[in-house]
Amino acid sequence: MTDATCIHEATHASVALHLGLTVREVRVKGWTKVPRYCAQLYPGVVRGMPIRTPITLLEEDCLDVSPFQVLVAMAAPSYLPTDDRRINKYAGLEAMLAYRWADKHGIASIRVQARAQRMTAAVEPEIYEMASRLEQEGVLTAEMLAERHFDQFQQARADHRRRNDEARPHGGEDRAS
Ligand SMILES: [Zn+2]
Repeated sequence: MTDATCIHEATHASVALHLGLTVREVRVKGWTKVPRYCAQLYPGVVRGMPIRTPITLLEEDCLDVSPFQVLVAMAAPSYLPTDDRRINKYAGLEAMLAYRWADKHGIASIRVQARAQRMTAAVEPEIYEMASRLEQEGVLTAEMLAERHFDQFQQARADHRRRNDEARPHGGEDRAS
């Protein structure tokens, strides 16, 4: 069973990547400094303060540039329960913070919620893959994530091509869409 904390962070990161956000790093060990968007979103958190907490690092100004996507990624783990009740409760709290921030800033929280639910379901296999790698490595850099993401993209294209090739001898017409 993959560690619940790793699943939680991998959910933030996978959904963020699929929404086109830049993920600088995902870590479940060691220290980092509170980024700007975390200070904006989490009460009592001060920008630049050193913290030792599992974290998905996005770009400093991501909340100003892509607020909807950031909020979706923030709420996503609440749609993937783990075997750790404490982590699940925390995910629920984060989602509430995201929805509250959304409504306060003119973004419909109901849309954030719906997208978070859909995206999390859609990328679930990738989340578990990333989580187990995160559990092994402790930290995933942008390069490691990009490599993985690219592999998956290539794989999806290869599968698509293979399906088309298999379909052709029977129908003749190209059923690709
Ligand atoms: Zn979180």
